[in-house]
Amino acid sequence: MNSMRELLGNLFRDRTLAEDEYLNEQDGLVYCRNCRTPRQTAIRTSDGGIVFCPPVLCDCKRAEHDVEDAMRAAKRKADEIEHLKRDGFRDRRLLEYTFDNDKGYNPEIARAKRYVELFPDMEARGMGLLLWGNVGTGKTFIAACVANALMEQRVSVYMTNFSRVMNYMMGMAGTDRNAYLDELNRYRLLVIDDLGVEHDSSFAVEQVFSVIDSRCQSGKPMLITTNLSIGQLREPRDIPHARIFDRVLAHCYPIRINNTQIRQRAAEQNIAEAKRLLEGVAK
Ligand SMILES: [Zn+2]
Repeated sequence: MNSMRELLGNLFRDRTLAEDEYLNEQDGLVYCRNCRTPRQTAIRTSDGGIVFCPPVLCDCKRAEHDVEDAMRAAKRKADEIEHLKRDGFRDRRLLEYTFDNDKGYNPEIARAKRYVELFPDMEARGMGLLLWGNVGTGKTFIAACVANALMEQRVSVYMTNFSRVMNYMMGMAGTDRNAYLDELNRYRLLVIDDLGVEHDSSFAVEQVFSVIDSRCQSGKPMLITTNLSIGQLREPRDIPHARIFDRVLAHCYPIRINNTQIRQRAAEQNIAEAKRLLEGVAK
């Protein structure tokens, strides 16, 4: 036993001191010169003899480690967010559509922001948003703001539009379509722009229905934008459309985006700027 004790006692104890270390005569442990806290701890037997002195981090090394851990965690988070955005957006321009870049044209954006804040609750209810209003009022912008903000919180979002979904599903066999719908429903929020654009053929209408219906059945929320008015959604022209719109209205809280035409305003600004440049007219 004694020889074992001596063996253990020698383990770590008689280590060579590094340049920034000293041996504290009072407790017989190695200390850091820099922060003057121990780099060893002593495990004592009941009779008080030191038997084992495993290394520990002194205060300054521990602080260094904490900083490194925090940096690693921040890097992991940034990588995860980048991955979510690469996966979630088909259109890279949407990366720029953020609440921070909002120019304040739409006061309704406050409610979209609130939706992001309340997302865990909304998600639990399977409640999404319906952004409706005329062409060019900024619905896509607001939808992408929500998508970006949620992905920043590491919520998986997939943003696409109905034309793209229809084109994609058109060339698929039935089983592939089901797999595609399952894939879309993997995401915690599904954002689909422009409901009501691609509704010409009965096949297209049926596919739109299957996307919306499977989303509702998954219990997960969706954010839909449309140029149709709430009146058109409530009084659809036929039963196939009624089946779609009923589900959208039951699962998406409607927000009217009522802004004056943003594209028109941007075009006017562009013309004014061109005039200033070409004709030297003061702004
Ligand atoms: Zn130290």
